[in-house]
Amino acid sequence: MTLDFEKEKLISELQTRKPKKVLVQLAEGIKRDASEIAEWIESLGIECIFSGESCWGACSVAVQEAQALGVDLLIHFGHAQFIEVDFPILYMEVQDILDLNPLLNKSLPHLKDYEKIGLSYSIQHRHDIQNIKSFYEEQGKKVTLSKKAGTNAYEGHITGCEYRGLKAIQEQVEAFVIIGNQFHSMGATLALRKPVILLDVYNDDVRSMEGLREKILKQRAISIQKLRDAKNVGIIVEIKPGQKFGNPKYLVDKLKEQGKNPVVITMSELTPDKIMNFYNIDAFIELACPRIAIDDFAKYHKPILTFKEALVALGIKSWNDILKTGIV
Ligand code: SF4
Repeated sequence: MTLDFEKEKLISELQTRKPKKVLVQLAEGIKRDASEIAEWIESLGIECIFSGESCWGACSVAVQEAQALGVDLLIHFGHAQFIEVDFPILYMEVQDILDLNPLLNKSLPHLKDYEKIGLSYSIQHRHDIQNIKSFYEEQGKKVTLSKKAGTNAYEGHITGCEYRGLKAIQEQVEAFVIIGNQFHSMGATLALRKPVILLDVYNDDVRSMEGLREKILKQRAISIQKLRDAKNVGIIVEIKPGQKFGNPKYLVDKLKEQGKNPVVITMSELTPDKIMNFYNIDAFIELACPRIAIDDFAKYHKPILTFKEALVALGIKSWNDILKTGIV
């Protein structure tokens, strides 16, 4: 894997903005590149501090850390802009330089029954997307990029919790092709009603997400039932700027109406060890990243539900309503 950190763009932006001190956030997979990036920044006479907190998405922009440290600029590597915040941020998206042709050829048998395909990519592949589109068009496919919608930064761009741009083209296509990894394509298969084919660039593999969807939906149904049976319920809110998926006060009122005892708990990041000592809580609803409840099902001993799933458990929405619009 060869990554292009766009050093020239970084240097040029820093020379224009002239910060004295910066905080750098690196996505998890590129934290190993901190030393090299530090050299580039410090060569301009700029003081540079790296955030060691986890950074799974651009929802986690470290504004509070940046303010506490008194830096002039936050540099966020590995994601595109996700939300508006009142602090100067430079987003460095990072390009993954790969020859995708072998994988594109490998995908053709999986797409033989589909003429109209929807196409989305995770941010590291943005620079390749027009070539990928042309490749499929030369094979006789009609290709539509997902719309720029919600928190996604570009046409065709996908993140793990924002699928409105894909839903917007759902009626025009027969199947979706996702360039990236299992995380984004699994979210897509849960959000959409059309087949989703993943071009897994990191494992050199092409696969359909269909079987996975059924397995996850069964797990979600189990968690919903457990919330219905629960007496003591924890509502977890994270303090990351882009992770506010639902209204805790609304849930508290609804849970109380149904004779349950809710408590609201805040944390910087939800992890199994942090909830362990809340041992009298029977089930949790998390309003942070919806993918924690879904992807980390097996890591938690207590049921963890998303806001949408909690609405189903409380009888405010039906499971079929949620399936129609997508559980993510
Ligand atoms: S909320 Fe979760 S899925 Fe959405 S951008 Fe953040 S980490 Fe990714």
